[in-house]
Amino acid sequence: ASEYLARAKAMADLNAFITLDEDKTLIDAQAADTMLANGSAGVLTGVPIAQKDIFCQQGWKTTCGSKMLDNFVSPYDANVIELCRKAGLVTLGRTNMDEFAMGSSNENSFYGAVKNPWDKTAVPGGSSGGSAAAVAARLTPIATATDTGGSIRQPAAFCGVTGIKPTYGIVSRFGMIAFASSLDQGGPIGKSAEDCALLLNVMAGFDERDSTSLEHAKEDYSRDLNTPLVGLRIGVPKEYFAEGLESDVAAAVLAAIEEYKKLGASIVEVSLPNTKLSIPAYYVIAPAEASSNLSRFDGVRYGHRAADYSGLTEMYEKSRSEGFGAEVKRRILTGTYVLSHGYYDAYYLQAQKIRRIIANDFQTAFEHCDLIAGPVAPTAAWNLGEKNADPTAMYLEDIYTLAVNLAGLPGMSLPAGFAANGRPVGLQLIGNYFSEAKMLNAAHQLQ
Ligand code: GLN
Repeated sequence: ASEYLARAKAMADLNAFITLDEDKTLIDAQAADTMLANGSAGVLTGVPIAQKDIFCQQGWKTTCGSKMLDNFVSPYDANVIELCRKAGLVTLGRTNMDEFAMGSSNENSFYGAVKNPWDKTAVPGGSSGGSAAAVAARLTPIATATDTGGSIRQPAAFCGVTGIKPTYGIVSRFGMIAFASSLDQGGPIGKSAEDCALLLNVMAGFDERDSTSLEHAKEDYSRDLNTPLVGLRIGVPKEYFAEGLESDVAAAVLAAIEEYKKLGASIVEVSLPNTKLSIPAYYVIAPAEASSNLSRFDGVRYGHRAADYSGLTEMYEKSRSEGFGAEVKRRILTGTYVLSHGYYDAYYLQAQKIRRIIANDFQTAFEHCDLIAGPVAPTAAWNLGEKNADPTAMYLEDIYTLAVNLAGLPGMSLPAGFAANGRPVGLQLIGNYFSEAKMLNAAHQLQ
């Protein structure tokens, strides 16, 4: 762990971490040593890990990338953190992220943007940009992350690493600061599918403190890594290769799909006809849920409170105006609007109907294939600052990742070569519910 910490400090310019705390890391390392000595160690005992700053971790500052929580030291552990502790993982630090996980470039962090280790003028992707950049720069072997609309897969793609968003409900959301609860899901980022499988084995499991946690039997996600792919049917959605996809990104993704043929898989064309509707549906549902979830940050119980105010209402107003960044405010306003009387039917209800249609489209596609393959994003990493002025341009980047969350399906990203500008490109694999082991198998066979 100390070697990784030294490396993290030497590469502090990447801004991948919000908090490093050597003393706390040492305590974890000692706990791991005890486990190794007394025979209670598991496969990951003593392995360093970086934790996304969205998971509450006792004694650690837990900011969620926001000024609102800049003074918040968590009094308890998220379920994911508890499980990492039990496995003897050693926390190196807390990774940078878009504020409240809202964003696709990590530029919405109160703590400043993260730089992409492949090219420091490029964004790392978001919202788990710190976790992906830390793994890519070898500041940590593995990291936790979360994905509400692509936040594991897209930064993994932009940083040339591997990440998996599991089936909704497999990883407990207890203690994971909520953005859009019906879409949020935790998962691992690592340098390979194998590393992701081992960390997912730790992170997954039923937790009664999360009402949407699934009572799904414990699985070994690494069990199928070496299964040959002969006979596997890979579906390629024609809508994922339509207008908007950069040609060099398409070429890299298609070359990776071509490799699957060599491994014995068959490629079939499938259709996900409502792909385009995932953007409006997501950008109604996610802000709606966010506006409700973020109402807890009122300056009363914890988090930022304005210094001067007269009366309760002004205290709320000033604390929230000062504590939240521009994108978070935009989402709260959008969410409040689409839920308001008179607009609910026109926006929120319609979006929920689209959500069902999108989930059904996937089930139709899975009648013809075992896994779906396509791009993660229409472009490789863009330049820092390039899309900041236009939020909707940023939203359009999420076209291939949002539907997976709307449907609750597992999705992953693995490296698939490089774009013309030398920046990494990701291949996305999408599976039916609970097919993580199959996806990790397919990813491992390509690595
Ligand atoms: N880019 C999407 C958004 O801004 C997804 C973020 C996420 O998955 N947390 O909402």
